[in-house]
Amino acid sequence: MADVDINIGESPFEASPVTPKTFDEDHVIKFRCYKGIECFNACCSNIDITLTPYDIIRLKQRLGLTASEFLKKYTIPFEFAANSIAGVKYKPVEGGTACQFMTEEGCSVYEDRPTACRYYPVGLLSMRRADENFDRASYALVEEDHCKGHLEDREITIGEYRKEQGLIEYDEQGRAWRQLILKMKSAGPSIGKLSKTSLQFFFMACYDMDRFRAFVDSEGFNQSFVIDDATRKELMEDDLALLKFGDRMIRQVMFAEESIEKKADAEEKLIQRRREQRALREEMGMDSEDPASS
Ligand code: SF4
Ligand code: SF4
Repeated sequence: MADVDINIGESPFEASPVTPKTFDEDHVIKFRCYKGIECFNACCSNIDITLTPYDIIRLKQRLGLTASEFLKKYTIPFEFAANSIAGVKYKPVEGGTACQFMTEEGCSVYEDRPTACRYYPVGLLSMRRADENFDRASYALVEEDHCKGHLEDREITIGEYRKEQGLIEYDEQGRAWRQLILKMKSAGPSIGKLSKTSLQFFFMACYDMDRFRAFVDSEGFNQSFVIDDATRKELMEDDLALLKFGDRMIRQVMFAEESIEKKADAEEKLIQRRREQRALREEMGMDSEDPASS
C-alpha cells in the first residue's frame, strides 16, 4: 500500500501510481474494497504508512500499550523531506514488507486502522501557500496495478468516501499536527536550524505521549509553567487533551507562540536546573540531553 499522505510539492507524479490531477470532495471515483475481492490483502502486503499522532493514540489504546511500547514494536522513525522533522512509519513484519496487523481474515485492528489505510486509494494533499497561514486539502487518486477495487462498479464522491471510512474524525484530530508539519517545512531559515533538543521534544510531544505526560507531571515542568488542577488532571487522564496541549507546547517552544503561562521566576529556575543537570551528566560521563528531563 502506498503512503497516501503526501505533500503535493514533493509528490513524484511522473511514473507514480498517483493520478497527476487533484480533486475536491465532489469528485466521483469508481471504487469498492471488500473481503473476497481477488486482491484482498495485496495492499497490506507491501506497506509504507506514515502514522499521525492520533493514529498512535487509537492503536496504542486498542493494544493496551504505552506509546513508547507501541513505537518500539510497531514503528520506525523517519525524517520528513530533509528538514529533520521526525515522523514515524509502520514497521513491517520481520524480514518482510507486510503489515504486522495483516491476517488472513484482513486487518486485525480494522476499527482503529490509521488514517493512510482509511484514505487508500485516495491521497490527501495538504498544502499551505506561502502567503497564507492555513492549510488547504485536496485529493488525488492512487491507482496501483495490484488494486482491483478500481474495476468495481460503484461510484462514490471523495466526500462520501471520507465519511464512509471514518475520516472526518481522523482528519479533525490530525489537523493540528499536519499544520505543524507544514509550518515547520515552510518556516525554513526563519526559525533557524532546530536544535536536537527541540526536535526530540517535537517527537516526544507528538508521538511518545506517555513520556510527554511524565514530562508535564515533572517537577521541572511545574516549576516553569502555571497549570491549574483541573487542567493537570485532564492532561494526566486524557490522551486527546494531552495531544492538544503538546501542540501548544511545540508552538510555544519552536515558534514563540506563547499560550501557556510561565511562572515569574521560571527562567532563573530553568538556568539553575540546567546547571545542575549538566554537572550531573558530566559526573556520569553522559553527553546527550533528554528533553523529558528539562
Ligand atoms: S493497519 Fe490494517 S489496513 Fe492498515 S496496512 Fe495494516 S492490516 Fe492493512
Ligand atoms: S481492492 Fe485495493 S484496497 Fe482493497 S484489498 Fe484490494 S488492493 Fe487492497
